[in-house]
Amino acid sequence: MRHLKRSYQNFILLTSVTVFLYGVYVIIYAWGLQNGIFKPAVTGHLPIAIDSAYAFMAMGISQACLIHRSALAAVVSRILSGCVLLWSTLLLIRDFTPVKIPLIFGMSPQTALCFTLLAISFIFIKSRKRKYIIQALLHFVTLIGSIAAIGHFLNIPEFYKMTFIPMAVYSAIGFVLLSVSASLMNYNLGITGLFTGNLIGNIMARKLFLQMLVAILVIGTLRIVAHRKEWLSPEFGSALLIIIFIVITLALIWKTSTTLNKIDDKKRIAVENFRIAIESAPYALVISDRDGKILSVNQQTKILYRYHEHELIGMPVMNIIPKKMHTDYVRRREQFFADNHIIKMGHNEDMLALRKDGTEFPIEIILVPIKTSTGPMCLASVIDITQRKNQEDTIKKQLIELQVKNEELEQFNYISSHDLQEPLRTVSNYISMLQEDFPDRIDGEIQEHLKTMGSAIDRMSHVVRSLLNFGKLGRKKKLVLTDCNKLVNDVAADLNSLIKNTGTEITVTCGLPEFYAYETELRQLFQNLISNAIKFRKSSISPDITISSRKLDGFYEFSVEDNGIGIHPKHSDSIFRIFHRLNSDEEYEGYGIGLANCKKIVEMHGGKIWVESEPGKGSTFKFTLLNFNK
Ligand code: ADP
Repeated sequence: MRHLKRSYQNFILLTSVTVFLYGVYVIIYAWGLQNGIFKPAVTGHLPIAIDSAYAFMAMGISQACLIHRSALAAVVSRILSGCVLLWSTLLLIRDFTPVKIPLIFGMSPQTALCFTLLAISFIFIKSRKRKYIIQALLHFVTLIGSIAAIGHFLNIPEFYKMTFIPMAVYSAIGFVLLSVSASLMNYNLGITGLFTGNLIGNIMARKLFLQMLVAILVIGTLRIVAHRKEWLSPEFGSALLIIIFIVITLALIWKTSTTLNKIDDKKRIAVENFRIAIESAPYALVISDRDGKILSVNQQTKILYRYHEHELIGMPVMNIIPKKMHTDYVRRREQFFADNHIIKMGHNEDMLALRKDGTEFPIEIILVPIKTSTGPMCLASVIDITQRKNQEDTIKKQLIELQVKNEELEQFNYISSHDLQEPLRTVSNYISMLQEDFPDRIDGEIQEHLKTMGSAIDRMSHVVRSLLNFGKLGRKKKLVLTDCNKLVNDVAADLNSLIKNTGTEITVTCGLPEFYAYETELRQLFQNLISNAIKFRKSSISPDITISSRKLDGFYEFSVEDNGIGIHPKHSDSIFRIFHRLNSDEEYEGYGIGLANCKKIVEMHGGKIWVESEPGKGSTFKFTLLNFNK
């Protein structure tokens, strides 16, 4: 059984409880009469036969059990329905066959029939096969109950008597309640399905039925009352009834047709808007059937493929696909119809389309399954990516050129810095020779000049070496599984004396990741950042460095936070440029190459580096590294 809506479940439960309580009430009432508790004025007027009361109680519980999913509830429901079925069948045999059964109680035969049908329905209501028959039985019970109820309301004994014993009005209402609510168990079937659906026909049925029912009941009642009181002659009464009926029918038809017209109008506008949207779409839209026959195309399709519309309609889609792609396309189309899923083609592969003049162009296609009254269809959105492909090709070419240029530049840097070392060494040697060979001729002032020259050359040589290292950085890079915790510990060990002398505290907040990285370069990155954090410390407090990391989608983000002098935000980009320094040599020694190295290393790992800082409040250097593990 499908999952029942909450409101249906509540309604079923409510009717179950109502008929059950009604049965209880009758039994207590009967017991009260027997014991003389109730006044004699009502004596002998039980609202329904006592066995009907028991049967209603049983059927109330049985129906309530039906909405419970447990196996025990199902068994209880079947036992109770089975008992009612047995009893009512025996009564029917007694009433309609020559077989003599000594049963003293007696619900009316039509009541017994209704209980028989209801009990059978309850027993089989959850079976998959006989759903339609069960629904029909329930509808039949509703019909009998309704006829009897109307007979009681309008005082027409032929309607509620049916056989030799009349059906009580309460039984009639009980049957209508039980059969209608039980039919909600299979709410999409039969007449119940007509009222519970969400289509326009169902909505109209719900609206109209109630209005018609009220109108017919009111007119019918008036007609009978008028007849009984002899207000009108039978002919006049019938004629009046016909006229009123025609007027009411006309009013309902008018209401129905205006509602339907409004809906139709809205639908037409929606269809027209949809058509405009399809026609003005910037990509080709092609609808084809299962056999690959084109059924509908938009304006862009004609432009893209250079066909007239009448040529495209009815044409096999294969005509607009290059021959070399036919086998693959057929296979994927078949898969598409089998899976009934959206598929994309041409995103990570080359996909081509064929124009009328035989030329081909690159495309991307999305196939969307659509349902139609004539079966499943395929809506293909085709995007011409010629321009994008050309741009991609240009970018690719430029990238290669850039790479070559970059390599040339690195080579130049490497060679020139290498060559510069030589003359520097020569000058340095000559200074030493002068100092050693002519100690008597080099007096104080010359000695001072030579010293200044020597330290300038040292500095120059350091810069050239840094430049050389910068050029070499990553030349021998090797991707290895790197434990960042160990790496940071090693760096701290290398910087041990500096850390001790400055009273530096290094904290690693959470375990740093282990992942594939260029280990040597990564070590240099941490070394530069940690030694900068110590170097650019405030004179008043000892350095406090916090290192942490977090995992992002495809990346790791690291941060190295210090409590040093900080950096003005306006310098946050320039500090990563080579030889860019913010402080003088007297204050903080350096060559302005550390952060340039860091940037190069991070970019080597497919990441970014930046700083978040305020002067006087410390700096946090953050960088991301591609998670090569993924
Ligand atoms: P160097 O340290 O040799 O001067 P870097 O490239 O390492 O060169 O740094 C460039 C500049 O960025 C430094 O001169 C300094 O002004 C600034 N800087 C780097 N790290 C820090 C830091 N942790 N705190 C404050 N300033 C920093």
